[in-house]
Amino acid sequence: EVAAETEETRPLAAVEDQGAGPAELEARGVSAWFGSHKVLDRVSLTMPAGRVTALIGPSGCGKSTFLRTLNRMHELVSGAAFAGEVLLDGADLYAPGRRLTQARRDIGMVFQKPNPFPAMSIYDNVVAGLRLTGVKVGRSTKDALVEECLTRAGLWQEVRDRLRRPGGALSGGQQQRLCIARALAVRPRVLLMDEPCSALDPTSTRRVEETIHSLSQEVTVVIVTHNMQQAARVSDQCAFFLAEQGVPGGIVEYGPTDAMFHSPQDQRTADYVNGRF
Ligand code: ADP
Ligand code: MG
Repeated sequence: EVAAETEETRPLAAVEDQGAGPAELEARGVSAWFGSHKVLDRVSLTMPAGRVTALIGPSGCGKSTFLRTLNRMHELVSGAAFAGEVLLDGADLYAPGRRLTQARRDIGMVFQKPNPFPAMSIYDNVVAGLRLTGVKVGRSTKDALVEECLTRAGLWQEVRDRLRRPGGALSGGQQQRLCIARALAVRPRVLLMDEPCSALDPTSTRRVEETIHSLSQEVTVVIVTHNMQQAARVSDQCAFFLAEQGVPGGIVEYGPTDAMFHSPQDQRTADYVNGRF
């Protein structure tokens, strides 16, 4: 249906229809392996629609792996295996016959290291996501989309006069916001972010945090962070991951962020959020 239309006949609505607003994401019994090494053991977590869920825990406990199972990127790693279900508004992403391109369009991802296409213009970087997912739109639609996504990512004012400059010419913090704008261009229902600020200076970190805050009504956010202050500032709920000696990673505790920081139920959570390991 959509593919049959020409660029000129595609209204802005065609892009707007891509997203149906924030979706709930629910992991049920998610296990993951790299070869024979089991790194996650039956992890279940509900990430409510339109909220920010932070995944916290020490390095190596499986947070990034868990995040990658949520949009089926884990299976791209050679030797990787998966078991369980991931439900997007109730529909399992891993169900036989489920279209992967649709899942990737619904669930965007932002990585630790900003990775815009460095030689591509700022404008084309934002539009690039549409091309990758096969969505075609006309020029005026693209212009409107680029402005909107850069605005939502908190970058429009800084780059509106130089949209033709290469993405690689921006500062690290601007590049990360460009990556957020690029992710938003396909109108995802969920945005996964893996330590999006750990390569950024404090000012850029602030800007990205403000962006996350302003997005949370429109898209469900799942963010991995090492930084407890950041988790406290940006998230509505937290899940504390831990992999104890020889045991695959799992969730020790999860709940509203306030409760996790002020009245943790598990001693290991209390120790972690208070910086004791
Ligand atoms: P975190 O993000 O919490 O630091 P990861 O999900 O990156 O943890 O890693 C979980 C475990 O999986 C670690 O033991 C790590 O060494 C292992 N691991 C991660 N990526 C790979 C990979 N590509 N191949 C093999 N093992 C991996
Ligand atoms: Mg990680």
